Amino acid sequence: MKSVRHWIGGALTGGDGRTGEVFNPATGEVSGHVALASAEEVDAAVAAAVAAFPAWRDASLTKRTQVLFRFRELMVAHRDELAALISAEHGKVHSDALGEVARGLEVVEFACGIPHLLKGGFSEGVSTRVDSYSIRQPLGVVAGVTPFNFPAMVPMWMFPIAIACGNAFVLKPSERDPSASLLMARLWQEAGLPDGVFNVVQGDKVAVDRLLEHPDVRAVSFVGSTPIARYVYETGTAHGKRVQALGGAKNHMLVLPDADLDLVADSAVSAGFGSAGERCMAISVVLAVDPVGDELVEKIKERVAKLVIGPGDDPEAEMGPLVTRQHRDKVASYLDLGVEEGAKLVVDGRESALLGGGKASEAPGFWLGPTVLDHVPAGSRVHTEEIFGPVLSIVRVPSYEEGVRIINDGEYGNGTAIFTNDGGAARRFQNEVEVGMIGINVPIPVPMAFYSFGGWKASLFGDTHVHGAEGVHFYTRGKVVTSRWLDPSHGGVNLGFPTNG
Ligand code: NAD
Repeated sequence: MKSVRHWIGGALTGGDGRTGEVFNPATGEVSGHVALASAEEVDAAVAAAVAAFPAWRDASLTKRTQVLFRFRELMVAHRDELAALISAEHGKVHSDALGEVARGLEVVEFACGIPHLLKGGFSEGVSTRVDSYSIRQPLGVVAGVTPFNFPAMVPMWMFPIAIACGNAFVLKPSERDPSASLLMARLWQEAGLPDGVFNVVQGDKVAVDRLLEHPDVRAVSFVGSTPIARYVYETGTAHGKRVQALGGAKNHMLVLPDADLDLVADSAVSAGFGSAGERCMAISVVLAVDPVGDELVEKIKERVAKLVIGPGDDPEAEMGPLVTRQHRDKVASYLDLGVEEGAKLVVDGRESALLGGGKASEAPGFWLGPTVLDHVPAGSRVHTEEIFGPVLSIVRVPSYEEGVRIINDGEYGNGTAIFTNDGGAARRFQNEVEVGMIGINVPIPVPMAFYSFGGWKASLFGDTHVHGAEGVHFYTRGKVVTSRWLDPSHGGVNLGFPTNG
C-alpha cells in the first residue's frame, strides 16, 4: 500500500497527520493513502519556496533554460512511468495518459524559449538623450491548485512557465491522483532545479485555504469545478493575490446539415467518450440541425457499440472507469433523470460489457459505459449541467440560429465546435459564439502551448488564460525604466512635469 507524501525543499516529508484514500478505479480497491497537509505543512512549503526564490530569480536565463531542457528530456524518458501512475489512480487508458503527458510537455517546450519570451521593448531617444525600456520580473512564490482529470498536463499548464520566469512554485495536486506530482518533482531535482523552487503539498480544502491566505503567496492558478473556481478567485483576490481560476464546462458541437456525418460521428464519439468524458473540453452535447438527427444518431450508435471498455493498463481498452464510486454514481443518476425529463435513452452505459467479462453496473470498480441520450430537451438539467462523465446528449434544433442561441444561453463558455462544409457559416460561428475555444471541424480544440487556454463566462474567473503569452504575463510583472546618462549639457532644475523635448 503506497503512501503519497509532500515534496518540500527537495525532499519527501509529512504523511503522519490526516490522510485520504487513493483508489484503483478499475477494481474499486484502495491502493494507497495520500497525506492531507495541515496549514503548518503548507507554511513549510511556502517557506522553502521563499528561501529558494532569490537565487532562482537571479539565475541567468541561460541557466534556467538549461534546467528546462533537461527536465524536458527526463520527462520524455519517464513518460511511460508517468502515464502508468496516472492510469492507476485516474483510471484513463495508458495511451490517453501518454497523450496528456505529451500535451503538457508542449508547455515545457514553449517555456524553453523563455529568453525570447521575456524580451522587453527598448526605445532609444524618447526625449533628448533619454531612453526607455520595459522589463518583466517574476512575482516570487506562486501556487497551482489542480483537478483530478489531468494530473500531469494541468500542472504543466502552470509550473514550466512560472519557473522559467524565475518564480518558486507550490503545487497542490488533486488528492484523487496525487502520485504524478511526486515523479515530476523528482525529475525537476534530477534536471538541476535548486531545491525549494518546486514544492508539492498534497491535500484538500485545508491546504488550499492556507495557500489562498498566505501572505507570501503572490499568485494562484486554479483549475477545477466552477463553484470552487469562483471561491478560489474571490478568496485569493480578497487576500490581494493575482488569481486565474478556470472552472467547469458544458461543450456543444453544432452540426449543420451539410457536414460530413461520418466525420461528425467519429468526432462526437471520440470527444464524448475519450477519458470517459472526464475532460473539460469533452463534447457533451451534440446540437443536430434538422434533418440530420436520425442518421447521425444511428452512426453514433454503430460506433459506440464497438468501443472497448476496460482497465487503463489493458492495451486493448479504449475507455476506462470513472475516478471514484461517488462520481460514478452521480454521473449514472443523470441517465434516469434524462428519461424523466423526456429524453430517449438510446445507449445505456450501465449495460456495457467490460473487457474480461461482466457488465458495467455489476463489476467492482467505478464503471459506467458510454451512454447516449437522444431528443434531450434544450434547457433540461441533463442538457445544461456539467455531468463530467461518458454521457452524450443529442439535442435536435431547427436551425443554425437556434443552435447558437442555445450555446450562448449556457452558463459555461469553455469550448465548442461547429461541423460544416460551409466556410461562411463557420466564420459567422466563430464570430457570434460566446465561448473561449472554438473548433471548426475539430471536436476538442485545445490550443497549442504557444496560444493560451481558457474559457469565458463560468468557465473562467479572472481575465488571464493559462500558458502561451498570457501565462508569461500572469507570472511576471512589468517595469518601465526611463534612463538618462548625464552629459555636461544637462538642463538644471525644472519643476515642470516631464515632457518630451
Ligand atoms: P474540484 O473543483 O473538485 O477540485 C479541484 C481542486 O480544488 C482540487 O485540487 C481539490 O482538492 C480542490 N478543492 C476541492 N474542493 C475544495 C474546496 N471546497 N475548497 C478549496 N479547494 C477545494 O474539481 P475536480 O473534480 O478535481 O475536477 C473536475 C472539474 O475540473 C470539472 O468541473 C472540470 O470541468 C474542471 N476542469 C476545468 C478545466 C478548464 O480548463 N476549465 C480543465 C480541467 C478540469
